[in-house]
Amino acid sequence: MNVIYARVSTDEQKKGYSIDGQISQCQKRYAGMGITDTTEYIDDGYSGEYIERPALDRLRADIKAKKISRIMFYDPDRMSRNLTVQLILADEIEKTGAEMLFVTGDYDASPEGKLFFSMKGAISAYEKAKIRQRTMDGKRGKATKGKLTFNDRPLGYDYDYEKCNYIINPLEAETIKLIYRMYLDDIVGTVALSIKLTAMGVKTKSGKNFSGGTVYRILKNEMYAGTKQAFKTYDKKISQYKRKKEKRDPSEWIPIEVPAIIPRAEWDAVQDKLAQNKILASRKAKHDYLIRGMVVCGHCGYAMIGTTSVKESNVYHYYTCSSKSVYKRPCEARLLRSDSYDNKVWDTLIKYAKDDIDFSQAQQNSNGIDTNKISKHISELKNRQAAITKWVADGTLDINIAGPQLQAIKKEIDAAQSIVKQERPKKIAFDRAEILSANTFNEKRKIILNLGCKFALTKDGIELVF
Ligand SMILES: [Zn+2]
Repeated sequence: MNVIYARVSTDEQKKGYSIDGQISQCQKRYAGMGITDTTEYIDDGYSGEYIERPALDRLRADIKAKKISRIMFYDPDRMSRNLTVQLILADEIEKTGAEMLFVTGDYDASPEGKLFFSMKGAISAYEKAKIRQRTMDGKRGKATKGKLTFNDRPLGYDYDYEKCNYIINPLEAETIKLIYRMYLDDIVGTVALSIKLTAMGVKTKSGKNFSGGTVYRILKNEMYAGTKQAFKTYDKKISQYKRKKEKRDPSEWIPIEVPAIIPRAEWDAVQDKLAQNKILASRKAKHDYLIRGMVVCGHCGYAMIGTTSVKESNVYHYYTCSSKSVYKRPCEARLLRSDSYDNKVWDTLIKYAKDDIDFSQAQQNSNGIDTNKISKHISELKNRQAAITKWVADGTLDINIAGPQLQAIKKEIDAAQSIVKQERPKKIAFDRAEILSANTFNEKRKIILNLGCKFALTKDGIELVF
């Protein structure tokens, strides 16, 4: 089989290189050799940089299957602009004994031909790199003059083609301002914010609903504070069909001034909050509280729960009274640093173990959790429950408003009653040797869970309650 391989890239298509021209030139040369029956393999719109191309893939399979006796190219560039690819292909062809021909001149298997072939490949690779460099230099020159190199149609802006810069789209800018304001005012993450926007009917530039990711990118984008960083990323070609966005070194970025929608101070405040939320999200899940689930408020008897806060990028973990923090009832309890109280609890246990103090004696001396205040809360809640029910019955209050309130009250009553009803443990598992030999968090945590007591915390210290 006598074949012709022709290829143009998309760039070359624009410059008027044609597949037809290559084929007719090759056919002419074949005709001169008395060959008129030819088969064409055509890659129209494929870069020569990579070896994967649909027609070339078929051609190589046919070469391997020894179906081919002659292959004609217009010139070596058509095989590839990449020297390595050229050499691979030439090698594959030579191995099967097929003949490789070029309209622009044949480079046969002689040492001189091989050298020339290699040189030509090297030079075409060099040219291509040079062209890319020149295009980049042009774009960089434009950017350093304060002009945008392309319009990426961001929300909040229109494009002024004469000045090559953005102009504020007043309506879209309001959406940007709203997103920044909501993020600063509400204590919500970007996903929750996107859900709120969707509920409000606010849409993206293309009329879609906001996602958490879109909101995050808008909040992170310095462009809205008036500085667009150009040349921040580039498309890295990783194969014939795939490209990947890669970040450039910040030294290569070029700042371009654009009209600001958000004051710089507000933008900075949002960046701080984003950074804090990120730290919070990553550490919140990981933190272990030693006495979690076994700790009660020394003032009101309600359970204490773990909570986290970030100050100047330091993360602090606390135990907080759930009656105060969840149900918003007055309680003297303060935020108590969990690491310090975890240590105090453990030191207390070590003291019991070392001094050979009778742990069951401590149990007998304990009065249990003081449930008086909790019982008082329960009766308050029940009164409230009865009042709301009455208002619904006599039509003063709409059931749609009362329903969620009644549900919340019921939940609170259940939580409080479960504390009051808790039975005091009959047996305690205090193992001296086990406590003295425990080293890891998990070993200690297991002992705490088995102990059968709770720890009542106040700012003044710890009391063991059974
Ligand atoms: Zn409390």
